[in-house]
Amino acid sequence: MKHPYFIVDAHCDTIGYLFNQGKELKTNDRHLNIDCMNQYKGYIQFFASWIDRNAENCLSQALGMFDAFYRELEKNKDTLQQITDSDTLHKAINENKIGAMLTVEDARALCGELANLRMFYKLGVRAVGLTWNHDNGVAEGALSNSGAGLTDFGRDVVREMNRLGMIVDVSHTSKKAFWDVLETSEKPVMASHSNTEAICAHPRNLDDEQIRAIIKSRGMIGINIYPVFLSDSETANIDDIIRHIDHILSLGGEKVLGMGTDFDGISSTPTDINNVGELYKLFDKMKKMGYQDSLITAITHGNFVNFLEKMLKNEKN
Ligand SMILES: [Zn+2]
Repeated sequence: MKHPYFIVDAHCDTIGYLFNQGKELKTNDRHLNIDCMNQYKGYIQFFASWIDRNAENCLSQALGMFDAFYRELEKNKDTLQQITDSDTLHKAINENKIGAMLTVEDARALCGELANLRMFYKLGVRAVGLTWNHDNGVAEGALSNSGAGLTDFGRDVVREMNRLGMIVDVSHTSKKAFWDVLETSEKPVMASHSNTEAICAHPRNLDDEQIRAIIKSRGMIGINIYPVFLSDSETANIDDIIRHIDHILSLGGEKVLGMGTDFDGISSTPTDINNVGELYKLFDKMKKMGYQDSLITAITHGNFVNFLEKMLKNEKN
């Protein structure tokens, strides 16, 4: 029997893992694979192409990751449906396929050219994380104190992403860059895999003001399950994840909450969730604790499906 949840997960680093280790998406020994996603009622996974900080040629690395993504799509075309617009979003849902959306983590991949951004769109990329943890000529990273914020080129990137229909991901940006992005973007933004600073004081997490701004602009926050972002003690379990969910709820965030696990991008997992096959335990626990079904459904997938409907173009029009 399948787990009774339809999950949208806004961030994993599985493509990088497959790319670097020569593993398969169908089944592998790490956090995320098709066989485990198939144990759920439904699944949509955003697949990030993360650009290694030491990569000599960022563009070439990005293209290599896109190639790995497309090769997996080809190998698993009976189970996967790529999502690029509202039409393919509904196709994935209606035909009971695993939805797969290509994203980029670290706009260094653009090599400073808007032309590359437009080509990324044509290659199916629908969300771009502006930075990883460091400055990149587009914006200031979460672990930097340079004060660079969003650069002039970064402003052009955000505007062009708005125009193209690409989702701006602020998960790894610094506070200053975050506020610059909110001032620049005409569309809501997503923090695909970030938690709350109030519960765990890590620079990768969002403070209350940032969370309120995302709520006000109808953006999205994907809850990250990396213990380092969940708890100050560096080990964590499902109760810690729920603490972050509760905090966002306490700020009025029931419509912006989703999942952004960070599977295959993290060196440890919560003690009671080791991989995607065990993610259901989080929602089982919430059910047991008395959370409303409608809220659980909103967090597992409802909010992200609404967000994608709003953000992705219908390419037939
Ligand atoms: Zn990340």
